[in-house]
Amino acid sequence: MTGETNEFFRALRMVKDEAGIRAEFQDLPLSALPEGDTLVQVQYSSLNYKDGLAVSGKPGVLRGYPMTPGIDLVGKVISCESGQWQPGDAVILTGWGIGERTDGGYAGLARVRSEWLVPLPPPSTPQWAMSVGTAGFTAMLAVLALEDHCVTPDRGEVLVTGAAGGVGSVAVALLAAAGFTVTASTGRPAEADYLRSLGAANVIGREDLPALKRPLEKERWGGVIDSVGGATLAGAIASTRTHGAVAACGLAGGSDLPTSVFPFILRGVMLIGIDSVTCPMHRRQAAWERLARDLPAEQLQAMTQIHPLEDVPALAQQILAGQVRGRVVIEVG
Ligand code: NDP
Repeated sequence: MTGETNEFFRALRMVKDEAGIRAEFQDLPLSALPEGDTLVQVQYSSLNYKDGLAVSGKPGVLRGYPMTPGIDLVGKVISCESGQWQPGDAVILTGWGIGERTDGGYAGLARVRSEWLVPLPPPSTPQWAMSVGTAGFTAMLAVLALEDHCVTPDRGEVLVTGAAGGVGSVAVALLAAAGFTVTASTGRPAEADYLRSLGAANVIGREDLPALKRPLEKERWGGVIDSVGGATLAGAIASTRTHGAVAACGLAGGSDLPTSVFPFILRGVMLIGIDSVTCPMHRRQAAWERLARDLPAEQLQAMTQIHPLEDVPALAQQILAGQVRGRVVIEVG
């Protein structure tokens, strides 16, 4: 790829017209790329819950049409006007609105802002980076947040909800590797062996979580990483031990939060919001370096499947139906 303007690249585009919103594979000229100072040849992207929403035409993710979805990408720099990167540099981009406000990773080329990029931490591979992706990066941010709030293995069990999903699977593996006793909550009992193989000490069903009957339930969790939201998050907060912390990552089960102030004012429970999209650069780099160091390669491989770009529309339906286990890497380049 030389960057000449008469070259074309393949993209999965979301288009909107009188017939509605749909996904189309298109060959686009370089002139179709958005503004940005850095041109990247995309090698891999990944599939996250948010990508499932975007590719299925659900409202609230894509801010305009036509748009290339894909909130993650890894690739090689072709050119960089700011001088921050050299041609051939291996870079990761997650969040910052790609695949939402500006074109994302489901295309052979991306034009982005140089300050959004993180170097691929050596000796990791591009495929490793997208096995992690936004979901794994978010799990790392959640673990860091618990540690920042003094949640240590001696404070008791840590609960991971939506455990067989992308955020959940990486969270289980990271916590277990850091010495925590992990209880994984899943709606898929068939995934119990998988979750134990990632390091979960206990696997419980969604329905086994203590129902929220009172503002304060029996104290159980030293910390919580939640990607479900709704009553699950509220129940987890009510069962968190005194001075424990809860990292709220997602809304796979609902965006409401039917709780009370009692866990906060009577037990000092801390509720921490996790936002991977706008995470500041120093925190991003620290998180990627820690992932490269501490996320066991064997567990990451066990939770990852690889698919071509053509499979994304079908996979989007599956992730929204809660049928995707772990992480999905998308081959682009
Ligand atoms: P996945 O679909 O891979 O995982 C979600 C998991 O949640 C499912 O696998 C399932 O786990 C569980 N789940 C799904 N539906 C329900 C339901 N109705 N009730 C209870 N549990 C349910 O998605 P991701 O891991 O990519 O994302 C998880 C959540 O985190 C999403 O809401 C996503 O938007 C959010 N997120 C937020 C980020 C941030 O920056 N804050 C970044 C990345 C993701 P199981 O089968 O084990 O029960």
